[in-house]
Amino acid sequence: MPDIETPVLIVGGSLVGMSAALLLGYHGVRSLAVENHRGTAIHPRAAQISQRTMEIFRTVGVEQIVREKSDEQFVQDGAILAVETLAGKEIQRFIANLNEGVTDVSPCRRCFISQSLLEPLLKARAEELGAQLLFGTEVISFEQDADGVTALLRDRDSGKSTTVRAQYMVAADGARSGVRERLGIRMTGHGTFSKSITIYFRADVEPLMRGRNMTVIYVFNPALRGFFRIEKPFQSGFLAVNIANDSGHPVTDVSTGLTEQRSLEFVRAALGRDDIPITIENVMHWDSIADVAERFRAGRILIAGDAAHAMPPNGGFGGNTGVQDAHNIAWKLALVLKGLAGPELLSTYEPERRPASAFTVEQAYTRYVVRVAPDLPADPHQPLANDLNIELGYVYYSSAVIPEGVQDGRVHENPRESKGRPGTRAPHVWLERDGAQVSTLDLFGRNFILLGAAESNPWCEGARAAARRLGMALDIHRAGADGLADPSDELASAFGIARTGAVLVRPDGFVAWRAENGEGASADQIASVLAKLLSR
Ligand SMILES: Cc1cc2nc3c(=O)[nH]c(=O)nc-3n(C[C@H](O)[C@H](O)[C@H](O)COP(=O)(O)OP(=O)(O)OC[C@H]3O[C@@H](n4cnc5c(N)ncnc54)[C@H](O)[C@@H]3O)c2cc1C
Repeated sequence: MPDIETPVLIVGGSLVGMSAALLLGYHGVRSLAVENHRGTAIHPRAAQISQRTMEIFRTVGVEQIVREKSDEQFVQDGAILAVETLAGKEIQRFIANLNEGVTDVSPCRRCFISQSLLEPLLKARAEELGAQLLFGTEVISFEQDADGVTALLRDRDSGKSTTVRAQYMVAADGARSGVRERLGIRMTGHGTFSKSITIYFRADVEPLMRGRNMTVIYVFNPALRGFFRIEKPFQSGFLAVNIANDSGHPVTDVSTGLTEQRSLEFVRAALGRDDIPITIENVMHWDSIADVAERFRAGRILIAGDAAHAMPPNGGFGGNTGVQDAHNIAWKLALVLKGLAGPELLSTYEPERRPASAFTVEQAYTRYVVRVAPDLPADPHQPLANDLNIELGYVYYSSAVIPEGVQDGRVHENPRESKGRPGTRAPHVWLERDGAQVSTLDLFGRNFILLGAAESNPWCEGARAAARRLGMALDIHRAGADGLADPSDELASAFGIARTGAVLVRPDGFVAWRAENGEGASADQIASVLAKLLSR
């Protein structure tokens, strides 16, 4: 008999494992997340939170608190730019203002909050939703069979062993994933191209900011290449260093043999001043990698986050991509565990998330080459894609989407052009419910949703009957009905449908199927579409 039984065991309880626990809890699924560290993140690491991640946070009820904490820590809407030194010349602005030109596509804004501040917020909400988090505990081994996974845990302090039996396991155990390795899943891509460091320091850099609003500050000079992130009130921050020395003599291993003196020299060279007292608080050593796992699933084990895709921090995509993995996994596991979907639904995780992740890894690599190492030899790399396409415009192809017409196989696009096409994120449109403004995105979350334009009543009736027949919850919303108004009259055109058309949106906010008009509206049609989508 195992000591603990849980529907889902999560290996790793950092950003992605914690998000998986939270999202499973949101879907009413108990999980146990096991984390080797004794608590939530102590280092800031990930901080750039994409609109997509904020949309997910909005769904589970933490958007507001994340924004408030973010305001305490960072000046909002700063630039991402390159300088010779913080005191010296600016070289180039990559993004002038973090939210410029993107606020029309989402009810949420990009923001900056460090992982060390974010994780406790996610933890509190995950626990509220019934997730169990076990810190200071390591998953030592695991075996899977036809019905589940059995794992052995060890408490780091007491050495006590515990066995856990779970129906499914999520491996969110980071770039050096022991689970992935034991499963024999290889990583492919550019490999390691820098042995990098992050130097956490204290120094009064406020005068060097010169009132400029800057969120990520790349440093490019003959002594080093890397980037600063500096927190309010500009008395502390970190400097990540990828390359030392000038391009004639580049050193891409800045980690081996690093001394405190050398760390100090790096910070001084990046500040461009040697008269400012600096205290080095900590140094983290990490590999700059751009790789993706060959498989994202092995039987009852799903691989997520850095365990599935490791990318350089350039672009701020790594943690966000992992949160999106967890979001994709949670509703599928919930429906399978509740017996509402066939286990084959889980086979859609890899075809959806692997191409989106591989594309994001390549884009992070391109940003590394362009921003950090433009003059060094690099592997072939993709042209730069717009950040918005990477964050909101990734496209899914799997049996959990019913395609329309010929598929062109594109993995990304401008989200403004998706217009409700199946496989893309459902567009944001401001609606009104009982006089209050709501986004279409606020209608999505727990269940499948039939969202219809003003004259889609036959589809809505059909959907009601189909849901009863299949014994599943289906939320039905129609513009102009039940207190939901579409004051700008944009819903139909935003979703590419006529006033008699409707779309089926998945719990993760992706369009699964679309009826452009009222032709063929029936319970049979919706029931057959749902059965297909849910592998029933
Ligand atoms: C300097 C820097 C800046 C970054 N900035 C950004 C950014 O702005 N935006 C962004 O999106 N991303 C950013 N990233 C990337 C981001 O930090 C990672 O993608 C993210 O932290 C990955 O989260 P994870 O949970 O998948 O993995 P990890 O954070 O590595 O967590 C894995 C966890 O699993 C635990 N674990 C491993 N094995 C076991 C085991 N056997 N038993 C129990 N526990 C185990 C580990 O202790 C660890 O806590 C940055 C990275 C760096 C280095």
